[in-house]
Amino acid sequence: MRRLFDAPARTYEVPSPRPTADRAPDRLAAGTDAWLRADLEALLGDPDVVLTRAIDLVRYATDASPYRMFPRAVVLARSIGDVQEVLAYAHRKRLPVTFRAAGTSLSGQAQGDGILVEVQRHWIGCTVEEGGRVLRSRPGTILARANAILKPYGYRLGPDPASKTACTVGGVIANNASGMCCGVVENSYRTLRHLTFVLPSGTVVDTGAPDAEERFAAAEPAIAAGLLEIREALLADPQAAGRIAAKYRIKNTTGYAMNAFPRRRSRSCAGSWWAPRGRWASSPRRSSRPCPTTRTT
Ligand SMILES: Cc1cc2nc3c(=O)[nH]c(=O)nc-3n(C[C@H](O)[C@H](O)[C@H](O)COP(=O)(O)OP(=O)(O)OC[C@H]3O[C@@H](n4cnc5c(N)ncnc54)[C@H](O)[C@@H]3O)c2cc1C
Repeated sequence: MRRLFDAPARTYEVPSPRPTADRAPDRLAAGTDAWLRADLEALLGDPDVVLTRAIDLVRYATDASPYRMFPRAVVLARSIGDVQEVLAYAHRKRLPVTFRAAGTSLSGQAQGDGILVEVQRHWIGCTVEEGGRVLRSRPGTILARANAILKPYGYRLGPDPASKTACTVGGVIANNASGMCCGVVENSYRTLRHLTFVLPSGTVVDTGAPDAEERFAAAEPAIAAGLLEIREALLADPQAAGRIAAKYRIKNTTGYAMNAFPRRRSRSCAGSWWAPRGRWASSPRRSSRPCPTTRTT
């Protein structure tokens, strides 16, 4: 007679003790190299903002993409000064730097194999201006949180990525993230008014300052000249400019915002930068009316 707790007749194979193919490499077991850890802790003056354990490096090796890249160390930046210090140090040591906010990137942008600089937890907060028509935000603010703050005023931010409950204002701007409703009309490019950014050289530019362009050109003459050169080349080639304009009437999911060059008379910035804060024109809720105060740099 078969009893209730009889062992099933089938036998199960004991799992192989061999590691899985995607296990983290052995070199990670000791965490960050001792020299790098010592340098970063001395540079930033606080061991708590430098994550160096194997578990930290594994945790920060992934974002929402299918890729994986192990950082050599993770820095939780607290200030513009921290960002400038890390950029200068990495330049001296020839180490790559990658910024990471919420890590919802679908294309591996929030991963790096050098120093990963987290710019979320110490960068939260925003203030409402002009009765809700403008939001001044720090980059680590979660998009849905910013919208919750704007809601009583009857406004919201334009970009509406499906990741809005996790992604940050900084990540959305850096990606020019879009969404099901905002299309190309209310994305960051169209609704961002001003931005304060840090270049790899450490130069800080607030595009809202009246003399922003002059200061940028004085601090970064090579970049300013290069950007103007691209603009002039595009303006001299109406076919190329027309093609770019046509392409950017629909969503573009890769590449630089080349459409900025023919459109505006000012210098634009592309490439590696870090944005500590920005002012955003918000859009009326329940309306697809384009925002009248669109400006970007
Ligand atoms: C479920 C899901 C749904 C999504 N839906 C959409 C969608 O509808 N539309 C869409 O466009 N995207 C979508 N995404 C992609 C992603 O959420 C967005 O691109 C989002 O803007 C990334 O923000 P983040 O804070 O996670 O940035 P991260 O992923 O951490 O970083 C993204 C990029 O921004 C850079 N960055 C972050 N902060 C700063 C900063 N302060 N200064 C400079 N650079 C910075 C990083 O270096 C990286 O290159 C989705 C992702 C998921 C997982």
